[in-house]
Parts: sequence; structure tokens; C-alpha cells
Amino acid sequence: MIAILAHHAGEEKLQAVVHAIEKRGLQAHVSRGMDRIVVGIIGKFDPSFSEQLRQMSGVENVVRISKTYKLASRDFHPSDTVIERKGVRIGGDALIVMGGPCAVESKEQIMDIAARVQQAGAHVLRGGAFKPRTGPYAFQGVGVEGLEWMKEAGERYGLLTITEVMTPEYVEVCAEYADILQVGTRNMQNFDLLRKLGTVRTPVLLKRGFSATYEEWLNAAEYILAGGNADVMLCERGIRTFETYTRNTLDLAAIPVLRQLTHLPVIADPSHGTGRRELVAPMTKAAVAAGAHGLIIEMHTDPDNSMTGDGVQSLYPDQFDALMRDVKQLAPLVGMTL
Ligand code: PEP
Ligand code: MN
Repeated sequence: MIAILAHHAGEEKLQAVVHAIEKRGLQAHVSRGMDRIVVGIIGKFDPSFSEQLRQMSGVENVVRISKTYKLASRDFHPSDTVIERKGVRIGGDALIVMGGPCAVESKEQIMDIAARVQQAGAHVLRGGAFKPRTGPYAFQGVGVEGLEWMKEAGERYGLLTITEVMTPEYVEVCAEYADILQVGTRNMQNFDLLRKLGTVRTPVLLKRGFSATYEEWLNAAEYILAGGNADVMLCERGIRTFETYTRNTLDLAAIPVLRQLTHLPVIADPSHGTGRRELVAPMTKAAVAAGAHGLIIEMHTDPDNSMTGDGVQSLYPDQFDALMRDVKQLAPLVGMTL
């Protein structure tokens, strides 16, 4: 349910509405737009209460939200969420670019790549220290030491860092080192992990499960939001279809669809979305044209010797530079700035 107040209703009337909601043991989430204030109400309540709210001074309407997710929906929060971390904005009209290797392999590797990410004008260094591999014998990541190297690289080059967290037990340690926590496609419905991420205040990039519908994906985000962490961004990274030429099928329509359904920032991952280096640049540009708030792109200084199979989809640093130049030109055409 949402209660809608005119913007000029004023603080006193708003607080009276919030108080009436909380007195019933329900939660009130206030979202202030240009000409309306929306109060989202979470919890179970009887129809007589919606009638009571409707009668309150300043309330224009009370509307039932039939979607299964609430906090993630645009009905609850009409304006775009803008996440801020160390002065960097994610969401709104700022286009953010995250670049780096699939996995942190050594201190030297991550330092060299961080230098190139920064030189190219990107904002965030990506790199997995814990890798979710399909097979148990494949390289699983270097662990906590990798988090230390990444943090140092981020500090040295003035970049934010993003890394994947796979289990609830590692959320706090990863949050200690990284600026953004990534939930991988295989963990999108790891509800214990999502609940734990609701308890920290580190922004979360939630990748789409490779077989997840938009509704399932938004409900996964709802777990984190319901726990109290409001800084969630969604990442389209390709879904599984009958096509085998590409590793996944990057669902570009997800970008405008999500921008309608949710206020959360939408990021695109053309690397895992295609699995092929030559397709990364065109799909990056397509994602920007479709309205993405940001991009996460694999880049490696020596992709042919990368320790995960993702070298084949990683850009060489010069290709990353060239792509950044193109994105910089394209961004203003869709109202974004890089
Ligand atoms: C990754 O970002 O390297 C990764 C493993 O991504 P995904 O979960 O999308 O496969
Ligand atoms: Mn990868």
C-alpha cells in the first residue's frame, strides 16, 4: 500500500501519517518527489486502516500495490535512487564504468590493471578474490589476500572497488575491504546471503540469475532492501537461451524494463553477457543507448594467460581505452555524463 501526499502538504501532516502507520506496528518508507510525497507502507493491515489514512489531512490517495516486491518498485519510490560512495554517484544521470579482471591473480596484476582502469577514465576496479567456478577443480580465487591487494590498488589509483561475495560468513570481511559487493548470477537466490547483505551498509550489485525473471530478480533485491540496506543496483549479465554461439544472451530489453519497474540503478555486463571479446564494445554501446546507468567490463593486461576462462571475453587495455572514448561521446546523446 502507498499513501500519496501533495508536496505542499508539509512536514507536520507527513509526520502525522507516518506516526499513524507506525502506531499500527507497520513500517513507513518516505520518498519525496518533485510534486508528491509517497509513503510506502509495509506490513499487513485491514481495509479500515486504509480508509482512515485516506481521511487524514494532506493525503490525496491510498493505493494498493499488487506487485510482490514493494521497496524495489517505482510505485513505492518514484524518483531514481542515487547511491553515493566516496563522492562517486551511481544512478541518476551519472554513467559509471567498472573495469578490471575476472579474478585477482597477483598483486602486480591488479596494480597494473588498476592503473589502466584509472587512465581510461573509469571509476571502479572490479576483481574477484572468491570465484564461483562451475567445477570444483578450477581456480577458486586467491581469497582474502586478494581483497587486500585490491584495496591497496583502489587507494593508489583513486578508484572504488567491487568484488564478489559468495557466502554470508564472508560478507563482513568483504565489506571491510571493498566499496561495492557483487552477488553473482549463481547466488541471486541465495536468500541467506541476501538477508546478510541487508544488514551491512555497503552498496550491493545484484547480478541477474541466468534463468531469473524480472520479478524473481526484483524480489531478490527486495530481500536486501527489506533488511535495511537501501543501496542496491541491478546488473543484467545475460541469460541462458537456446543460442550457443554466445556464452549468454544479453537481455537488452531488461534495461528499459527495469528502469520502468524500479528506481534502483541498472548496470550492464557485456562481458559475461556475450562471452566474446569482439562483442563487448558493440553491446556496451547498445546498453548505454538502452539507458544503463553503468557498465561492468572485464579487462586484463594479459588475457591470454588469465587464470579463469574469462580471458576470451576480456578486453585488452587499449581496447578498453578506445571503448571509453566512444562511450564518452555516446553518453550525452542519452542524457548521461561520463
Ligand atoms: C564475474 O563477474 O566474474 C562473474 C563470475 O559473473 P557472473 O556471476 O555474472 O557469472
Ligand atoms: Mn568473469
